[in-house]
Amino acid sequence: MSKISLNLKKILDKISRASAKRDQSLQYFKPRLVAVSKFKSIEDIIEVYKHGQTHFGENYINELVLKSNDPLIQRECPDIKWHFIGNLQSNKINKLLTVPNLHLIETVDSANLADKLNKNLKINRLNVMIQVNTSTETQKNGVDLDKALELYKHIIQSCKNLELVGLMTIGSLEESCSDDANNKDFQVSKFCNLSRVNLILCKEKICRELGIEAQKIELSMGMSNDFEPAILMGSSNVRIGSSIFGPRK
Ligand SMILES: *Cc1c(COP(=O)(O)O)cnc(C)c1O
Repeated sequence: MSKISLNLKKILDKISRASAKRDQSLQYFKPRLVAVSKFKSIEDIIEVYKHGQTHFGENYINELVLKSNDPLIQRECPDIKWHFIGNLQSNKINKLLTVPNLHLIETVDSANLADKLNKNLKINRLNVMIQVNTSTETQKNGVDLDKALELYKHIIQSCKNLELVGLMTIGSLEESCSDDANNKDFQVSKFCNLSRVNLILCKEKICRELGIEAQKIELSMGMSNDFEPAILMGSSNVRIGSSIFGPRK
């Protein structure tokens, strides 16, 4: 077995074990692995796909357009499901919408972007998530926490071509790596992390205000360094790159 397939197997095992340890109230879904393949080769993607992985994430539109249209990918990975997880710019939307097998855009963070996606979509409905800035760092992308409800309402009311499936956050690396002993206000569990707690509270508020069942709103949180605690806290979509494909340049 190659290094990459071994890594994939290890990650899938860890995901299963973390899922089994979740609170009973979270056992209704199985977290999805998104293999983040940015900067990684077509060959690496095909290898991971051959081991049963179908969801892949990319950050850069040009790279995603090239990879998704690659003849080898098209031949070897007919059921690949692409997630766009990078910063979404309004002038790149039409290019993004040309991606074959585009499955989910995780980074919608304004009504303007949502409207433009909704309007320019040609054929199918498109899955989207709202990216929420759950961190106190100002330079992070995502809609502000206190504007997420408004954006959620806007998309379900005015963007009929978009299928809003949940909320996504990147969170703060600092906060994710710390043991959280200093987050005294949030004693949800020892895996508590300010960004993740903020995303959960944001979801609960949306569910309450808009009368949406908790099961209808997914959470995309957790990367290589923190996917296990993220799953324990209810992540349904973990985005893992370097732990599968190795470090990026
Ligand atoms: C790069 C990236 C990931 C994967 O990060 P790793 O630490 O390599 O697992 C996940 N989510 C987003 C938004 C990313 O940009």
